[in-house]
Amino acid sequence: MVDYVIVGGGVYGCAVAWGLSRRGHSVRVLESNHVASRASGGPGRRGVRANGRDPRELPLMTVAYDVWPTLHEELGAEQFYERVGQLLLLETPDQVSAAIARCRMQEALGIESHMVERDELREMEPELNDTIVGALFCPRDGVADHAATTRAYAGAAMAMGVELTEGCSMRSIEVTGGRATDVMTDDERIVVDRGVILLSNSEVAEQVHALGGPLLPVWNGCFQVLMSEPLESLPLRHLVGHVGRTVSLKADTGNRLMISGGWTGAWDAAAQTGRPRQAAVEGNVSEAVAVYPSLAGIEIGTVDVGHLEAVSADDVPIIDTVPHVDNLWFGTGWSGHGWAIAPVVADSLAAWCHSGQSQELLSPFSVARFHTN
Ligand SMILES: Cc1cc2nc3c(=O)[nH]c(=O)nc-3n(C[C@H](O)[C@H](O)[C@H](O)COP(=O)(O)OP(=O)(O)OC[C@H]3O[C@@H](n4cnc5c(N)ncnc54)[C@H](O)[C@@H]3O)c2cc1C
Repeated sequence: MVDYVIVGGGVYGCAVAWGLSRRGHSVRVLESNHVASRASGGPGRRGVRANGRDPRELPLMTVAYDVWPTLHEELGAEQFYERVGQLLLLETPDQVSAAIARCRMQEALGIESHMVERDELREMEPELNDTIVGALFCPRDGVADHAATTRAYAGAAMAMGVELTEGCSMRSIEVTGGRATDVMTDDERIVVDRGVILLSNSEVAEQVHALGGPLLPVWNGCFQVLMSEPLESLPLRHLVGHVGRTVSLKADTGNRLMISGGWTGAWDAAAQTGRPRQAAVEGNVSEAVAVYPSLAGIEIGTVDVGHLEAVSADDVPIIDTVPHVDNLWFGTGWSGHGWAIAPVVADSLAAWCHSGQSQELLSPFSVARFHTN
């Protein structure tokens, strides 16, 4: 018997396992493939940004800002986070007006934010296109090596006694008397004392529905990441996004540029991987060149669309319990921006599972927001 079974060895599964083991519980993590094989893995780095986020997620980011710089020390790992600041670029008068309003909102919710005008912006990012008229800047935003972070959580959890089994899928969960009692894999029946937590991202909706829960309003996207061949020099100094263009730019090791922002590939369910779409690759590159003209002719070394992510109908996560099952929690619908908030969400979820008390920070993410009764 074990206190908790967690399904999924991405950042959420590993971080919640660590959080529960620190609270004194025995935990098993089941991972179908290997740690950081899906959304928490793949090339490049992830943005740890508050800038441009839904206001419901900003209270999580005010806490996350203080957690990220020293998280590696707590996990006993090398540094995987870098605070570089994020610039959200603006190109039209309407975008500037909307950004001034957003800046006010972010500041009021505790996120340090500044409007940056043309001249100052040129000093910060000399190679930007002349068409960019300003930016909304969050100096406390940064980037993290996602695979290294996830592995660090897994390592710290295992050092606390968590049993993490890779290549092992949860097949079903038995519920008796309104409680999850057993988790079935191909090889064993795991008897559960305190609870089960579904953190399998793109698979959660189906798993919740199979247990008699609601059909969650989510869909799965395989988001595109382009990694350039090494450049002579990188044109950018910050994490860069754009309010009107689908593009996000990050510096990576070896003078490589990571280009992403929300373009998707086509998911091949039989092969369990994504297939690149040429139009999406070209579209993403052309948005990058529109922002930094010196990138014209950039050579792309890697196109990655192999990492499915659940996206919710209102673009913020769904974190809750399964109705009529007292001890079954789930988190999904991270909507392409679940990374930055992961340490805070995972710790709050571990606190909820441990205490049985739902946590204030997670209340905006209840499934109840989609229902009228
Ligand atoms: C390309 C891309 C770019 C992103 N960029 C950013 C960014 O810049 N900033 C940001 O904040 N967020 C970003 N995100 C989002 C962030 O990376 C994810 O929200 C986060 O990694 C989700 O973690 P997870 O643990 O829920 O999911 P995953 O890492 O997908 O882990 C779920 C795991 O569950 C396993 N699993 C599934 N079914 C079963 C089963 N039946 N039994 C056992 N195991 C199972 C899977 O194999 C998988 O390893 C990005 C996501 C992607 C894909």
